[in-house]
Amino acid sequence: MKLRFWGVRGSIPSPGRETVRYGGNTPCVEARLSDDHIVIFDAGSGLRGFGDALMATGASVNAILAISHPHWDHIQGFPFFKPAFVAGNELTILGAQTRNITLRQVIASQMDKVYFPIQLNELKAKIRFQPVREESVPVFGGTLTSMFLNHPAFALGFRLSYGGRSIVYMTDNEPFDREVARTAKNVDRNIVDLFMAQKGDPNQRVFDFARGADILIHDATYTPEEYLQHVGWGHSDYLFALKVASEAGVGKLVLFHHEQTRTDDQIDEIVQKCRKEITQRGYMFDCIAAAEGLVLDW
Ligand SMILES: [Zn+2]
Repeated sequence: MKLRFWGVRGSIPSPGRETVRYGGNTPCVEARLSDDHIVIFDAGSGLRGFGDALMATGASVNAILAISHPHWDHIQGFPFFKPAFVAGNELTILGAQTRNITLRQVIASQMDKVYFPIQLNELKAKIRFQPVREESVPVFGGTLTSMFLNHPAFALGFRLSYGGRSIVYMTDNEPFDREVARTAKNVDRNIVDLFMAQKGDPNQRVFDFARGADILIHDATYTPEEYLQHVGWGHSDYLFALKVASEAGVGKLVLFHHEQTRTDDQIDEIVQKCRKEITQRGYMFDCIAAAEGLVLDW
C-alpha cells in the first residue's frame, strides 16, 4: 500500500519560492489500498492536483474521502475535484456532523451559489455521505476508526488498518491541558469531557489511538516558542508530536500541517531539531516532514 501527500500546509495555501520544496497546498493525503480503492484524508487545496492525476489515468474512481473537520483548509479543494463531476465515479464522504449542520450541508454550503458557480447537486458522480463519530467502519476490506481530537468546535483523527498495517492521520490536534480546558469555551463540551475523563494524562486517549501505528501523520504547526502565543488555537508544536509518537510507539512520525509562513529552510531546521531530540531521548522511531509529492510505503 502507498501513501502520497498532495497537500501538507495548514490554514491557507502558501505558494511561493520559499515553500516550493515542501509545498503550499492545504491538507490532502492519499492512501492507496489497491489499484482501484482509495482512501483520501481531507479535501484541502491539494485535492485538486490529486483529482487531475486521477482524471489523467482515465480509470473510474471509487474513493472514500475522510474529512477531519470542516475548517476551510480541510474542505476548500472539494469544489475543484474533477472526478466528482464525472458520471460513474463513486465517492463516499465520511466525517462528523453536529446537531446544527449535517455532513452534506458542510460540503454543500461552501458550494452555495453565493460562493461558487456549481452546486453540489449538479455533480455527476454518485456521492454518498457517511456521518461518523468515534467508531470503526469497514472500508474496502480494511477498517477506518475515528476519534475526536482537541480542536476548536471538533476535529476527527483517523486510523486506517489494512492487511495488518496501520496509518494514523491526526492533524489539527492540540495537547489537552486540564487547566486551559476549564476556561476555554471553544471546543465541543462533549469532547472536552472525553479528555477530562482520562485518568492521568488527558492525552492518553490520543496516545492509545495511535498505538503501534506504522506511520503517524501528526500536526506540527508550531515551534514550542510559537505555541505559547497560540494556546487554544487547536494545534501542536513539534515537541508534542514527538511525545505522541513516542508514547504510542509508532514506526515513523510525519510532521504535518506546516504553519502558513514556514519556509522550506525552517522546516528543514525543525526536522533536524526533532532528530536531535529523538537521539537524545533514545526514541526508536524515524521522523520526517510531510512534503507534496512524498510517497511512503506502508
Ligand atoms: Zn487545519
